[in-house]
Amino acid sequence: MPRISRRDLLAAGVAAGAAAALPRQLARAAPPGVPISVSSGNGLRAVAKACERVAAGDRPVHAAVEGVSINEADPEDTTVGYGGLPNEEGVMELDACVMDGTRGLGGSVGGIRNIMHPSQVALRVMERTDHAMLVGHGAYRFARAHGFPHQDLLTEKARERWLSWKEGLSDRDDWLPPENKEGGTITCLTRAVDGRMGGSTTTSGLAFKLPGRIGDSPVIGAGLYVDDTAGAAGATGRGEACILTCASFLAVEEMRRGAAPTDAALAACKRIADRTREKRLRDDDGRPAFNVQIYCLRKDGTHGAAAIWSGGKYAVQDADGARKIEIAHLFERT
Ligand code: ASP
Repeated sequence: MPRISRRDLLAAGVAAGAAAALPRQLARAAPPGVPISVSSGNGLRAVAKACERVAAGDRPVHAAVEGVSINEADPEDTTVGYGGLPNEEGVMELDACVMDGTRGLGGSVGGIRNIMHPSQVALRVMERTDHAMLVGHGAYRFARAHGFPHQDLLTEKARERWLSWKEGLSDRDDWLPPENKEGGTITCLTRAVDGRMGGSTTTSGLAFKLPGRIGDSPVIGAGLYVDDTAGAAGATGRGEACILTCASFLAVEEMRRGAAPTDAALAACKRIADRTREKRLRDDDGRPAFNVQIYCLRKDGTHGAAAIWSGGKYAVQDADGARKIEIAHLFERT
């Protein structure tokens, strides 16, 4: 059943019938002099690190990469970098991008293998090439040229989960039991006290994806967009939906037009729901049968996040310290 619909949500075009949660904490302007970082729910350590680095004088984009690098190297995070879940052939292929919202520059790598820190390689693409995107073996060779070590990224835990997925694929082969499709990502948006902004999104992509599949995380405008004259946005969840709606770009443009961060994120989720026309992607009530989360940090330091489905939290560090905040949503999960 729908919950209370805020006036602002109606203004953002949320249709009648779509439930919209009141964000637990309404965005408010940060006092000057405080670095701010916003991340997905798995990014509590990332936001703390990013704020620490930006306070020490790093550029916001560098600070964001420092933040997400923690998750990339964490074997317990099965959604990012080392320890992530592999493609359908049991091979890890990672995606990441970075964006410097002050200089208007971005860099990304897609489907890179055997490199633990795709976000750091994306940063090198931005800073040390005349390109914005490198994929596959070319990205790997570029990383090696920059001294990134070749590493086996498939942990035993991830291999076992891949095997269990493979065994459950069909009852018409000789592999035996199952697991759900899953994925995950970390996005980190960071603002320095002087208003400069930067961000990074990094992922191992959807678990058990087709080899060569690239999600939204390395696509500037889909998994991340930063323009410090308006704000920054990042996305997690079904990447195909974010690519097809330019979701992060859309959220930033909403903020440029004056929307509060939570409303900008809701508007992007709403667009995704509206554009989900295929029956196979919708539930019995016509709602998206998948989830997407959009995280927003506006140029004035206010922040918010929204998802298609209820239940998530985002991580933030601002004047009130590091904590997790409930994400607004379009539809209530029952
Ligand atoms: N957005 C990622 C992708 O589609 C996955 C995720 O966030 O779960 O590759």
